[in-house]
Amino acid sequence: MELSLHQIISFLNSKYPPQYQESWDNSGLLIDTNSPIKKAITCLDCTMEVVNEAIEEKANLIIAHHPLIFSGLKRIVDSDKTGQIVKKIIQNNIAFYCAHTNFDSAAEGLNYHLAQKIGLMHTKVLEPLQLQLYKLTTFVPDEYAEKVRSAMFSASAGDIGNYSSCSFNINGTGTFLGQEDTNPFVGTPGKLHFEPEIRIETIVEQRNVHKTIEEMKKAHPYEEVAYDLYPLHNELENVGLGRIGDLPYIMDEKTLVTYLRDKLNIETIACTKGLGREIGKVAIVGGSGTSAIGSAIRQGADALITGDLKHHTFVDHEKDLFLVDIGHYESEKIAMNIFYDILTKKFPNFAVCISKTNLNPINYL
Ligand SMILES: [Zn+2]
Repeated sequence: MELSLHQIISFLNSKYPPQYQESWDNSGLLIDTNSPIKKAITCLDCTMEVVNEAIEEKANLIIAHHPLIFSGLKRIVDSDKTGQIVKKIIQNNIAFYCAHTNFDSAAEGLNYHLAQKIGLMHTKVLEPLQLQLYKLTTFVPDEYAEKVRSAMFSASAGDIGNYSSCSFNINGTGTFLGQEDTNPFVGTPGKLHFEPEIRIETIVEQRNVHKTIEEMKKAHPYEEVAYDLYPLHNELENVGLGRIGDLPYIMDEKTLVTYLRDKLNIETIACTKGLGREIGKVAIVGGSGTSAIGSAIRQGADALITGDLKHHTFVDHEKDLFLVDIGHYESEKIAMNIFYDILTKKFPNFAVCISKTNLNPINYL
């Protein structure tokens, strides 16, 4: 079964909204193709081996966790490693998509799955995402309320989590006095008019504000459309970096290490010196979670499980909490399976494979 690139990307974007990515990230469709997609291959890093594997597998879409193009790519030449890979992808008419920090933070993204895999209970997001939301309010004559609401919803206003078309509506009375040269929708120029109106309130993401106001104005019958737009400071409870929760039972530090080895299928784990603490509450952050140490401490985590910790990080925090470094690759390798699982579930007849060549670049001898 073939799918259009648009079908696959729209689905992935709905699971891992691009607006959840960090400002420094470069997630999304980085290389496109006009051809229908015959097969997709999932990986963590798009190496040359993965591209060769895609060609062999006749897969013309690579879905990765890490962006292939991250900082500005100045040239696409063979003397540059990324240039070589990009060139080969384009020459073979393959598309490249990645979901990085938006996948980490999504409601059912990497950190959600990691927390599930280690059996965390009463789980919360460690650092909830602060997505800029706006409240948009306008005032419409009763008989136009439906039209204006629909126009606003069509521009993605009123989307909250798994709900759409969310609004609040109150009946009231609007007043206006048009100058002699006006052409009011109702009433007479130069005469104060009272009009039964509905006040429509809805919520809009920053990226959709402009479009929503445009659509609202187009559908609104008034010459001068009155509206209020104000920023909100709401947090998205299920979205954000890391998760924190309770282990199924309290264990000592050594037992936690064995427990993680078993649950995450990991051989080597680096951790701070055990101080004989009882571990009940733990935070987990896939990839490199150094920036989340402060949040984990503030929220009372006994341990932080993450990857890519530096020597000085261990030195600085050994007394604050039990720091456990399970490795960057090890903490993110499940991404390949998650991408595979959601795609095969959504499109059962579409071919997807997991890369066999995208191995851990770090060897432990
Ligand atoms: Zn990573």
